[in-house]
Amino acid sequence: MPIESYNPYTGRVLKRFRPFSWAKTARILGQAHAAAATWPATTFAHRAEVLRRAGALLRERAPELARLMALEMGKPVADGRAEALKCATCCDYYADHAEEFLADEPVATNAGRSFISHQPLGVVLAVMPWNFPFWQVVRFAAPALMAGNVGLLKHASNVPQCALALEKIFHDAGLPPACFRALLIGSDLIEPLLADDRVRAVTLTGSEPAGAAVAAAAGRYIKKTVLELGGSDPFIVLADADLALAAKTAAQARMLNAGQSCIAAKRFIVEKPILKEFVAQLITHLLALRTGDPLAEDTQYGPMARPDLADELAQQVADSVAQGARLALAGGQERPGTALFRPVVLTHVRPGQRAYHEEFFGPVALVLEAKDAADAVRLANDSRFGLGASVWTKDLAKGEALARQIEAGAVFVNSLVKSMPELPFGGIKKSGYGRELSRLGIREFVNQKSVWIG
Ligand code: NAP
Repeated sequence: MPIESYNPYTGRVLKRFRPFSWAKTARILGQAHAAAATWPATTFAHRAEVLRRAGALLRERAPELARLMALEMGKPVADGRAEALKCATCCDYYADHAEEFLADEPVATNAGRSFISHQPLGVVLAVMPWNFPFWQVVRFAAPALMAGNVGLLKHASNVPQCALALEKIFHDAGLPPACFRALLIGSDLIEPLLADDRVRAVTLTGSEPAGAAVAAAAGRYIKKTVLELGGSDPFIVLADADLALAAKTAAQARMLNAGQSCIAAKRFIVEKPILKEFVAQLITHLLALRTGDPLAEDTQYGPMARPDLADELAQQVADSVAQGARLALAGGQERPGTALFRPVVLTHVRPGQRAYHEEFFGPVALVLEAKDAADAVRLANDSRFGLGASVWTKDLAKGEALARQIEAGAVFVNSLVKSMPELPFGGIKKSGYGRELSRLGIREFVNQKSVWIG
């Protein structure tokens, strides 16, 4: 992939970047490794001050960051500003809590004193996707930096300006420059980086193939990994749900970021008696959404991030229809090779169709009919993925019982699935492993050291 900013709305290349050579990459790694020896010696209070300043800059620069996201990957500016503000909240959260999360934990043994201490690992490589180009990185970087680690970012090739803008924010906030660097490199340099002993761990957010490739390389060199991969999140609507609210939220949950969110609701599993009405209301809400230039304030969903992603999604829809799914709403691309994709609703989604088995990473709602609540759980779990899930019912006890049965890293009852600093985020099955955010996230990249004092 060339490293370039390409505006998916206009189809114009805005800027091309020459990828860093291995020599330059290795030089930056050397500086990062040196910083990994000094940064952990700073106090939590000092690191928190830097993170709070980064948060303030994210707030201050939210309009320009939103503009960059609109230009590089088509996110409407209102959503881009919200993303920048969410990143600021995450910086503040770890500034406030990191010391408490990483405090020594006394353990009773036969020692005079024994405890678990949490120490940074050193240089952590982060391989990140374009869909939330600031949030995905900050939710790794804020806890990692507070823990005393140092970050090297290999961002997706289509968001280099976002990567550089975030690097600048951390540097302007007073972080020693070598503690966080954006590497403008292709994925070909990931393996040589992992082969280098100075890189201690890697985190990847992205697709299943990318996760498998990076984890395989990390395995060869015995490096800790966290993988946040794809999802095909179920959105279960039981017959006793608040149907109007569920249908409205369903449209929101599917269309967030033009459908390109790992935790977007993708499979709508609906009990038979309300299925027809749910689909009708879902379509009404989808048709009410405004599309247009992501730079315009009133745009609610923009183009997909790249035309090839829209082409692939269109193919998944066409194949599913050929395999028996039905088009209840026939949006899609205006023509192949363009990124704008209007919402599609597919019903009669059944085993054997691509729609049943694959992740649809764009504005396509897949509707499955459930006989009852048990059947809905069975369908929800009949998936290679296990990231998030949403359950809609007025019976909260039943909602909670279902939440316990669903194979996912997070289940939200009567809400769409969201990520927030307080709750752990991550998946099971092919959605990956490890957790980000919360106290669990900051403990992924630390040496949990047992200390026994006789
Ligand atoms: P992607 O193609 O996997 O790219 C993600 C990152 O991995 C990019 O930096 C990419 O670099 C790199 N990469 C791609 N192939 C690689 C390989 N073989 N070896 C090493 N690095 C490689 O994913 P995407 O299209 O950007 O994002 C969509 C996917 O990410 C979806 O499946 C979505 O569900 C998932 N996702 C998951 C989460 C989560 O938290 N679980 C969040 C967001 C997205 P290049 O750009 O240079 O190719």
